[in-house]
Amino acid sequence: MHFPVEKFNLLETPFYYYDTDLLRETLRTISQETGRYSQYHVHYAVKANANPRILSIIREYDLGADCVSGGEIKAVMKAGFPADKIVFAGVGKADWEIKLGLEAGIYCFNVESIPELENIDKLAGEMGKTAPVALRINPNIDAHTHHYITTGLNENKFGISLNHFEKVLDYLPKLSHVHFKGLHFHIGSQIVDMSPFQMLCNRINEIQENLFRRGIVVDVINVGGGLGVDYQTPDQHPVPDFANYFAVFHKYLKLFSQQHLFFELGRAVVCQCGSLITRVLYVKEGENKKFAIVDAGMTDLIRPALYQAHHHIENIVSSRAIESYDVVGPICESSDCFGQNVPLSGTFRGDFIAIRSAGAYGEIMASQYNCRRLPGSHCSDEI
Ligand SMILES: *Cc1c(COP(=O)(O)O)cnc(C)c1O
Repeated sequence: MHFPVEKFNLLETPFYYYDTDLLRETLRTISQETGRYSQYHVHYAVKANANPRILSIIREYDLGADCVSGGEIKAVMKAGFPADKIVFAGVGKADWEIKLGLEAGIYCFNVESIPELENIDKLAGEMGKTAPVALRINPNIDAHTHHYITTGLNENKFGISLNHFEKVLDYLPKLSHVHFKGLHFHIGSQIVDMSPFQMLCNRINEIQENLFRRGIVVDVINVGGGLGVDYQTPDQHPVPDFANYFAVFHKYLKLFSQQHLFFELGRAVVCQCGSLITRVLYVKEGENKKFAIVDAGMTDLIRPALYQAHHHIENIVSSRAIESYDVVGPICESSDCFGQNVPLSGTFRGDFIAIRSAGAYGEIMASQYNCRRLPGSHCSDEI
C-alpha cells in the first residue's frame, strides 16, 4: 500500500487513514461476485466502521445495512441508505430503538428471543403497524475463531437455540403484529476456513426441510457475516476472496426459487483499506529489547489488547536495516501493546508507523480512557 507521507507531515497523529481506492475495489468485487447469483444481497455490518465518509462510499455500491443499534440506524439513514435495505439485529433492543425501526419502515428485525418478539409485537400494535421479523437461530456451530468473537454455540448469548425454535414457531401465529419473514444466523467473525460456513449451509437445509413440512417457506435466509481477512500479509490479499466465499453457499445451500439470501459482511468490506498512522515518540532501550513508544494507544485501536489480535506493523519512512521492537502505546495498562518483537526498519523519534488492517473494529471502538483525544480520520481522496 502506498502512503502519502509528505501529506501526513501536515496532520496531527494518531489518525486513521482510509485508502478509498482499495475500498472501492473491494466493493466492486462484491458487486461483481454477488451479481452472479440473482438471489444474493450484501448488507454491510455497520458496527465494523460507521465513519460517515466510509458509509457514503459503501452506499454508492448499493449494499444494504445491518445495524445493531438505533444509533446505527440513524447513521446509515443519514448516509442515504434506504430504510427498506436496513436489517436490525442485537440481543437487547430497547423500546426506543424498536420504535425508531418501525417508524422508519426498516426491512426487518432480527429477533433473538421470545420476550423480544412479544415486545416488538406489543410496540407494533400500539403504533398500528406490523413488524417484519426474522428469527435468529443459534445453529450450534463452532467457527474455530477467538472465543470472544464466536457467536454460534449454545453457550453464547445470541439467538434462539434449535431446541426452542419449534416452540417459537408454535407461538408465532398468536402474535398479530409481527410478520415472519426469515431466518437469521451469524456464527462468528474472522473466519478464514470455509468449512464452518459449509456446516452452516447443511444446518440451514435441515431447518428449511422442517419448515417446509409445516408448510412454511420464508422470504429470506440471512447467513450473517464473518468472512475473515489476511492480517499477516495484507498487501498479498488486499481484497478478500469473495468469489470463493459466495461459491460455498452456492454449492451447499438449498434455496427455494423465490427466496433471497442475505449476507452481513463487516470486516471483509472495510478492514484492509484502513491503517492507523502513528508517530514514534521515543525509542527506549530495555534490558534485552527495544521499545518503540508511539503516540497511538489501545484507546485508538483496542483489538490487540482485547482479542490478542495481530496487526502487521511497518515503519513507512525508514529504509534502514531491520531491527526488532516492541511497539507500545502511552496508556497506563500493560496490555497497551500493538506487537512484540516486531521487525521494523531502524526506527527513530518522529518516524511514521502504520498499523495495518485497521479499517474494521478500529476507529469505531476508540475510547477516551486516560482523557485522551479521539483519533482523527482521513481518506486518501481528501488529503
Ligand atoms: C458483527 C456482526 C456481523 C459482521 O461480522 P463480520 O465478522 O465483521 O463480518 C454480521 N452480523 C451480525 C449479526 C453481527 O453481529
